[in-house]
Amino acid sequence: MTKNSMTNKNGINTLAVHGGETPDPQTGASSPNIVMSSTYVVDQPTSFSVTNMDDDTPYVYTRWANPTIRQLEKKLCLLENAESCLACASGMSASSGVLFGLLSSGDHLIISESNYPGTAEISRQLLPKNSIDVTPVDASNPENIKNAMRDNTRMIWIETPSNPLVKLTDIHAVSRIAKDADALLVVDSTFASPIATRPLELGADIVVHSLTKYIGGHGDAIGGAVLASRKVASEIIGGGMLHYGGAISPFNAWLIMRGAATLPLRMSAHQQNALQVARFLESHPNVELVRYPGLASHPQHELAKRQMHNFSGMIAFRTPSPHSVAKRMMADLEIVHYAVSLGHHRSLIFLLETDDLINSSYRLDGELEREYREIAGPGIFRLSVGLEDAEDIIRDLEHVLG
Ligand SMILES: *Cc1c(COP(=O)(O)O)cnc(C)c1O
Repeated sequence: MTKNSMTNKNGINTLAVHGGETPDPQTGASSPNIVMSSTYVVDQPTSFSVTNMDDDTPYVYTRWANPTIRQLEKKLCLLENAESCLACASGMSASSGVLFGLLSSGDHLIISESNYPGTAEISRQLLPKNSIDVTPVDASNPENIKNAMRDNTRMIWIETPSNPLVKLTDIHAVSRIAKDADALLVVDSTFASPIATRPLELGADIVVHSLTKYIGGHGDAIGGAVLASRKVASEIIGGGMLHYGGAISPFNAWLIMRGAATLPLRMSAHQQNALQVARFLESHPNVELVRYPGLASHPQHELAKRQMHNFSGMIAFRTPSPHSVAKRMMADLEIVHYAVSLGHHRSLIFLLETDDLINSSYRLDGELEREYREIAGPGIFRLSVGLEDAEDIIRDLEHVLG
C-alpha cells in the first residue's frame, strides 16, 4: 500500500495531486473516501476539551476533527509550507476565527483601508463594539503601517493582492515591522493562492484563505482555511475557533481537495489568459484604467515580480458611465457571468460601486477616501479571468464595452 510521505521537497504539482491523501487501508481505494459521519465510536476514555488535540488524538466529533477534512488540511499545509491548518466553513469563518480568537478588548488592529468587504465590516463595525481599536491604512506603503503602530498593536491584517483595487503589500517588509513590535501579521492570500505567494515563507504569522475561490476553483463549494505555526494555531483554537461552530462539511472538503489537485495547472492558465485580457483592456478606447500585477503599468509591478510567482487572474478596470456598462454586461454577456466571487474556471465580472463600499464597508474619509476614489472613480469592475479561450473572453467583453 502506498504510504503518503509527501514533504516540501516534492514539487508543487506533486504536492497538489498527492499531498495529504492516502489510499484507503481497508479497500485500497485510490481516491479519498468521504467520511460524512458526525460522530465516532470511542474505545477509550476521551477528553471533551478541544484545546489539547493533536494528530494522534482519536476522532471524536466532526466539528473538532474529521478524516476527510484532515486530508484537505494536510494538503493545504504542504502547499503553503505551514505546520498547521484549520479548515472551516468559509473564508469568513476563517477570518472571524482569527480576529475574534486572537484579539481582546484593549488591543489595536491595523488593517488595509480596502479589502474583502466582509472583513472590512467586521473590523469597522464589530471589533470596536468589543473595545478593539482599528486603524485602516494604505498598506501598499509599509511606512504607513509603521507610522500607525502603537504600544497595544497586536495584529496587522493585510490582503495582497487586495479586493477590489488589486493593490499589493510587501509581506516581508511588513513582517519586520510586526516582529519588531511583537505583533502578529495576518495575510489574506485568497487572490494570490499558494501558487503565487507563500506568505509564511516571507515572515507572516498567519495565512487566511477563502477556499471558495482559486483553491476549490470550480464555484461549487464554500470553504475557508487558516494556516499558521502549531503554536499560533493552538492559540486560535484556544480563542474559540472550534466553538464558533464554522465546521466545513466533509463533502465540501472533498470537493475542494479535488479542485486543489489541479491548482498549479489552473493558476498558470489563469495567468496566461489574464495577461491577454489585461492587454486587450489596456488598449481599449473605452477603458480608463486597468490594474493587473502582470502589466508593467501596475504601480507595484516590481514588487509583484518579486513577491508573486504567478500574477493570478484578477483584473480591476474602469470605464466611463460604469452603471450603463454594467447593465449591458448583465443583458449581453454570453461567456463571462455577471456575478460576484472569483477564482473559478468560469470568468466572472462584477461592478463594485464606490459610494456603496465607502459608506457600508470601508467607512473611509479624508485622504484615504480621496485616494480610493482616485483609483476606483464611481465604481470599478472586478474581473476574474477564467479558463475559457482568451479570444472568446475578449470577444465577449468587446461586445459590451462599446
Ligand atoms: C471571498 C473572499 C473572502 C470570504 O470568503 P467566503 O468563502 O466567501 O466566506 C475573504 N477574503 C477574500 C479576499 C475573498 O475574496
